[in-house]
Amino acid sequence: MKLDIEQKAYLIDQVVALDLPIRKVIRNLYEAAAATVGKPLCLAAAEKIAATSRKRDTVLLTTGFPIPPKNIGETDGPLGTAVLTETLLAAGLKPVIATDDHSMEIVKAASPNIPVISFPKDDEKASHLAEKILLELNPSALIAIERPGWNQKHEYHTMRGLNISSLVGKTDYLFEIGRKRGISTIAVGDGGNELGCGTIIETVRKHVKYGYTCQCPCGGGIAASTPADVLVVSGISNWGAYGIAACFSLLKDLKYAHDKEKELHLLNRVVEAGAIDSITLESKPLVDGLPPSMNTLVAELINTIANS
Ligand SMILES: [Zn+2]
Repeated sequence: MKLDIEQKAYLIDQVVALDLPIRKVIRNLYEAAAATVGKPLCLAAAEKIAATSRKRDTVLLTTGFPIPPKNIGETDGPLGTAVLTETLLAAGLKPVIATDDHSMEIVKAASPNIPVISFPKDDEKASHLAEKILLELNPSALIAIERPGWNQKHEYHTMRGLNISSLVGKTDYLFEIGRKRGISTIAVGDGGNELGCGTIIETVRKHVKYGYTCQCPCGGGIAASTPADVLVVSGISNWGAYGIAACFSLLKDLKYAHDKEKELHLLNRVVEAGAIDSITLESKPLVDGLPPSMNTLVAELINTIANS
């Protein structure tokens, strides 16, 4: 059976939105996000990047989610970012990644050939750096993958409703200033507290635990307030980024190469660099509590669909 790109994109969205971590809100969040674009989300995101980027343009990605109490970056995010940056490189674009100190070594381990910038936590420094980067790199698109997003009070939270503002480099400024300049914004999230989930803030407040009320004194809930032009909701954010990479490869007629062996390799690399699993809080090759078997299965499914 030879599938066309629309059919493949439909299947890829079905796979990346699988609620294998049993969050029980993925379907609500996915449907709210899909309603904003009216087509498969990974394809919409890939088309957005393709429409706004020409060869040799810089694309600025941001990832890295620090998890307390160890205050180390998690395994979700850097893998998806690595796969998407490889795809963008293959298409002749110039990816650059922004993160913060807690995920710096992890992101570098996953993407050793990509420049990585550490973002400051201080508001003034972060907004100045965002202005400087946007001016100097002039990116054609901004892409956030499992990156903390501030709420309406500019506070950052974990899924458990805990305040992590003291840990997070304020990459929201990239999106805030970039959007005002008309730069395309794409985001991937799986819980509603990630940068870009402002696109569906009311759905997050309604359905996600701590969405409306957090466990910290800010009183703003964990729902992220900064929106993106296209928000991809997936069961695990890495998968959403793989889906975008697969759709972008299809649009550009490139081979999509991320498979189970590459998934295992990347997972082991980030764990060697210290990454922790957000659920068990241990430095083990798990992503949001899911074992390598589940993550390689999803990686392989996306690969099979893309190359079918
Ligand atoms: Zn709070």
